[in-house]
Amino acid sequence: MQSKISEVKEQFEKELSQTDLSDEQAVENLRLKYLGKKGLLTDLLKGMGTLSAEEKPLFGKLVNELKAEVTDAIENAKEKASEAAMGKKLIASRLDISLPGEGYKHGSTHPLYDIREEVIDFFANMGFHVDLGRDIETDWYNFEALNTPKDHPSRDMQDTFYLSQNAMLRTHTSGTQIHYMEAHKPPIRMVALGHVFRVDADATHAPMFQQCEGLVVDETITFAQLKGMMALFAKKFFGENAKTRFRPSFFPFTEPSAELDVSCVFCDGKGCRRCKGTGWMEIGGCGSVDPAVFENVSIDSEKYTGFAFGFGLDRIAMLRHHIPEISLLTSNDQRFLEQF
Ligand SMILES: [Zn+2]
Repeated sequence: MQSKISEVKEQFEKELSQTDLSDEQAVENLRLKYLGKKGLLTDLLKGMGTLSAEEKPLFGKLVNELKAEVTDAIENAKEKASEAAMGKKLIASRLDISLPGEGYKHGSTHPLYDIREEVIDFFANMGFHVDLGRDIETDWYNFEALNTPKDHPSRDMQDTFYLSQNAMLRTHTSGTQIHYMEAHKPPIRMVALGHVFRVDADATHAPMFQQCEGLVVDETITFAQLKGMMALFAKKFFGENAKTRFRPSFFPFTEPSAELDVSCVFCDGKGCRRCKGTGWMEIGGCGSVDPAVFENVSIDSEKYTGFAFGFGLDRIAMLRHHIPEISLLTSNDQRFLEQF
């Protein structure tokens, strides 16, 4: 029987030396072959039943010694196999330290917000009061008080989001000026700023955009002062070389009225595709306050004169940053916003 033990021992040592120690499955197969329920060492112990009482203790001792030896060897081999497997895994998923890190994304202010802050700064520095007004106006403040009665054709120019017959999302910030003139006596210097809403959508028009409208009222206000202020505004927002041009126009609440053009920011006034060859781009409207508006808010139109002007902040941002589509400003696309 003892020769049987030596035989198994030799066989195990031979097989162990032939086993690929980097292969976890091969090591496990070896363990099962010797230490498993039907393993060779288990068989040896089962064979003890045929031995005499004197032989049993010595045989048991030898088998157990071999079992301990095999267990140790297998444990050892398993450790090596597991290390080798880990090594293989690391090689397969090796880090490329030349790749750029993931980094942290930093937010930035929105281009429209920047323009709005600049506009507020510009007018606040000249002593203007800034009023955000309200998004919802009544017919009186949005139209009627601004010399735009119900049958007035200019109501067709602004297709309006009505909330009821008498309430609407404001189509311009001009209503804020009426509220302001009701609450304050001249001299008045104020800008109304905020979102306005119109049923309108194409590349350069959106159903919601931001407007900035100014109003100056005093005893000696002239159209020449309006021109001076607009020229200053154009230089501040479009560069020192920006020129302004006033084209006669019509608004119900100003008389005379003018469209305000600034020399094209793309071609410096030479004429290009974007300005349709004219060298000019429209940025807003302006004019002297119509006396009828003063009468609606009980300001003496014989004593006081004033001027008013309005710009789309979106349009200024688009011209400043050469943005082709107004919808980009509100689409919240990071690829667009990261450029500012
Ligand atoms: Zn141009």
